[in-house]
Amino acid sequence: MGRLFLINLEGSIYSCKHCYTHLALSDDIISKSFHSRHGKAYLFDKVVNVTVGEKEERPMITGVHTVVDIFCVACGSIVGWKYESAYEKTQKYKEGKFILERFKVLGPDGSNYLAVQESQIVGSDVDDD
Ligand SMILES: [Zn+2]
Repeated sequence: MGRLFLINLEGSIYSCKHCYTHLALSDDIISKSFHSRHGKAYLFDKVVNVTVGEKEERPMITGVHTVVDIFCVACGSIVGWKYESAYEKTQKYKEGKFILERFKVLGPDGSNYLAVQESQIVGSDVDDD
Protein backbone atom coordinates (compact mmCIF):
# COMPACT_ATOMS: atom_id res chain seq x y z
CA MET A 1 0.00 0.00 0.00
CA GLY A 2 1.21 3.45 -0.88
CA ARG A 3 1.34 5.94 1.87
CA LEU A 4 -1.41 8.51 1.87
CA PHE A 5 -0.53 12.10 2.51
CA LEU A 6 -3.59 13.66 3.98
CA ILE A 7 -4.11 17.33 4.57
CA ASN A 8 -5.07 18.14 8.13
CA LEU A 9 -7.49 20.99 8.59
CA GLU A 10 -7.92 23.07 11.70
CA GLY A 11 -11.13 24.61 12.87
CA SER A 12 -14.71 23.49 12.30
CA ILE A 13 -14.17 20.46 10.14
CA TYR A 14 -16.39 18.32 8.00
CA SER A 15 -14.94 14.84 7.66
CA CYS A 16 -15.60 11.51 6.01
CA LYS A 17 -18.09 9.61 8.12
CA HIS A 18 -16.37 6.32 7.35
CA CYS A 19 -12.73 7.08 8.04
CA TYR A 20 -12.75 10.59 9.60
CA THR A 21 -10.50 12.03 6.92
CA HIS A 22 -10.77 15.81 6.93
CA LEU A 23 -12.65 17.15 3.91
CA ALA A 24 -13.62 20.77 4.39
CA LEU A 25 -13.99 23.67 6.81
CA SER A 26 -17.25 25.25 7.81
CA ASP A 27 -15.57 28.59 7.01
CA ASP A 28 -15.52 27.56 3.36
CA ILE A 29 -19.24 26.92 3.08
CA ILE A 30 -20.79 29.06 0.39
CA SER A 31 -24.34 27.79 0.75
CA LYS A 32 -26.21 25.29 2.88
CA SER A 33 -29.32 25.39 0.73
CA PHE A 34 -28.41 22.70 -1.76
CA HIS A 35 -30.05 19.35 -2.19
CA SER A 36 -28.95 15.98 -3.36
CA ARG A 37 -31.01 12.90 -3.95
CA HIS A 38 -30.18 11.96 -0.37
CA GLY A 39 -31.15 15.20 1.30
CA LYS A 40 -29.29 18.30 2.31
CA ALA A 41 -26.01 19.21 0.67
CA TYR A 42 -23.57 22.07 1.22
CA LEU A 43 -21.65 24.06 -1.37
CA PHE A 44 -17.99 24.56 -0.41
CA ASP A 45 -15.37 26.85 -1.86
CA LYS A 46 -12.75 24.18 -1.35
CA VAL A 47 -12.52 20.57 -0.33
CA VAL A 48 -9.38 18.56 0.41
CA ASN A 49 -8.41 14.90 0.44
CA VAL A 50 -10.70 13.89 -2.42
CA THR A 51 -10.23 12.31 -5.81
CA VAL A 52 -12.52 13.02 -8.73
CA GLY A 53 -14.38 10.68 -11.05
CA GLU A 54 -15.39 10.96 -14.69
CA LYS A 55 -16.96 14.12 -16.03
CA GLU A 56 -20.63 13.80 -16.77
CA GLU A 57 -23.54 16.02 -17.68
CA ARG A 58 -26.11 15.93 -14.97
CA PRO A 59 -29.54 17.52 -15.12
CA MET A 60 -30.48 19.28 -11.89
CA ILE A 61 -33.36 21.47 -10.83
CA THR A 62 -31.23 24.49 -11.69
CA GLY A 63 -30.32 23.22 -15.15
CA VAL A 64 -27.76 20.92 -16.71
CA HIS A 65 -24.30 20.98 -15.16
CA THR A 66 -21.06 19.23 -15.98
CA VAL A 67 -19.97 17.58 -12.76
CA VAL A 68 -17.50 15.05 -11.42
CA ASP A 69 -18.20 12.91 -8.41
CA ILE A 70 -15.73 13.32 -5.56
CA PHE A 71 -14.47 10.49 -3.41
CA CYS A 72 -12.69 10.35 -0.08
CA VAL A 73 -9.05 9.74 -0.93
CA ALA A 74 -8.55 7.49 2.08
CA CYS A 75 -11.50 5.08 1.88
CA GLY A 76 -12.89 5.72 -1.61
CA SER A 77 -16.44 6.43 -0.53
CA ILE A 78 -18.35 9.00 -2.53
CA VAL A 79 -18.87 12.22 -0.59
CA GLY A 80 -20.38 14.56 -3.15
CA TRP A 81 -19.53 16.20 -6.45
CA LYS A 82 -17.72 19.12 -8.01
CA TYR A 83 -19.21 21.51 -10.54
CA GLU A 84 -16.98 21.71 -13.60
CA SER A 85 -19.28 23.94 -15.60
CA ALA A 86 -22.80 25.25 -15.69
CA TYR A 87 -24.84 26.17 -18.72
CA GLU A 88 -27.11 28.70 -17.11
CA LYS A 89 -25.48 32.08 -16.56
CA THR A 90 -27.05 32.38 -13.14
CA GLN A 91 -25.41 29.12 -12.08
CA LYS A 92 -21.87 30.02 -13.14
CA TYR A 93 -20.85 30.83 -9.57
CA LYS A 94 -20.85 27.10 -8.84
CA GLU A 95 -18.07 26.34 -11.30
CA GLY A 96 -15.02 24.90 -9.57
CA LYS A 97 -16.97 24.55 -6.34
CA PHE A 98 -17.73 21.42 -4.37
CA ILE A 99 -20.82 19.81 -2.96
CA LEU A 100 -20.59 17.60 0.10
CA GLU A 101 -23.68 15.57 0.76
CA ARG A 102 -24.50 16.22 4.38
CA PHE A 103 -25.44 12.67 5.27
CA LYS A 104 -22.13 11.37 3.92
CA VAL A 105 -19.95 13.53 6.11
CA LEU A 106 -19.56 14.21 9.80
CA GLY A 107 -20.13 17.74 10.97
CA PRO A 108 -17.78 19.88 13.07
CA ASP A 109 -19.23 18.49 16.29
CA GLY A 110 -18.92 14.93 15.05
CA SER A 111 -22.63 14.69 14.49
CA ASN A 112 -24.24 12.57 11.88
CA TYR A 113 -26.91 14.03 9.67
CA LEU A 114 -30.51 13.26 10.52
CA ALA A 115 -32.99 14.06 7.80
CA VAL A 116 -35.78 14.72 10.29
CA GLN A 117 -33.93 17.76 11.64
CA GLU A 118 -34.31 19.47 8.30
CA SER A 119 -38.07 19.55 8.07
CA GLN A 120 -38.06 23.25 7.23
CA ILE A 121 -36.63 22.38 3.84
CA VAL A 122 -39.37 21.57 1.39
CA GLY A 123 -39.37 21.13 -2.33
CA SER A 124 -36.34 19.87 -4.18
CA ASP A 125 -35.33 17.41 -6.79
CA VAL A 126 -35.73 14.52 -4.40
CA ASP A 127 -37.43 11.56 -5.96
CA ASP A 128 -35.03 8.89 -4.88
CA ASP A 129 -35.55 5.49 -3.33
ZN1 LIG B 1 -13.16 8.18 3.99
